Amino acid sequence: MKLIIASNNKGKIREYKQILEPMGFEVMSQSEAGIDLEAEETGTTFKENAAIKARAIFDMTSCAVLADDSGLAVDALGGEPGVYSARYGGLATSEERSQLVLEKLKDVPEDKRSAHFICCIHLILSDGRELTVEGRCSGKIGYEPVGENGFGYDPIFMYGGQSFAEISAEEKNKLSHRADALDKLIKKLKEIDI
Ligand code: IMP
Repeated sequence: MKLIIASNNKGKIREYKQILEPMGFEVMSQSEAGIDLEAEETGTTFKENAAIKARAIFDMTSCAVLADDSGLAVDALGGEPGVYSARYGGLATSEERSQLVLEKLKDVPEDKRSAHFICCIHLILSDGRELTVEGRCSGKIGYEPVGENGFGYDPIFMYGGQSFAEISAEEKNKLSHRADALDKLIKKLKEIDI
């Protein structure tokens, strides 16, 4: 079955290809499928936004499509930055957005600095059946950015004694919110007839 990933992010596409092609999907990026579309993320949850992105492409193509939406949720900030992770505070760079989180947490003690990366994947099969999964990775917000790897909020997200920007990509791919969501998706796909 042909499967369009609602993204042109090369890293994401590679990861999805590696995992989903052995299950019988012919995986392609949005641009490989000839689709020039950026659906507006008007939802208030990761699930809603992933579903909005998947449905926009399904409505155009009637082809199987997978979309994801992810971000950081900080407990002491009531789940912020949440779905606004990529545009938190209207700030242009991920360094500025990370600094804003640190600033907001400056008086918050160690035991109240818990946070979670969340990733929702929404898959629509060519016959219209829909599957949604949510993956999580829990950690704590540090006190300053540390490490050179990764992207986004990785330098301030502490997993054990290291930030996500200090661990290798391989390690992160095993324990990240995206890895958790993909594991759950694969389990669901194995349970149904595709
Ligand atoms: P998207 O779902 O790929 O659009 O990601 C939304 C935003 O969430 C990104 O711009 C990052 O700020 C943040 N984010 C998502 N996943 C990660 C991650 O693994 N590390 C750091 N930041 C992330």
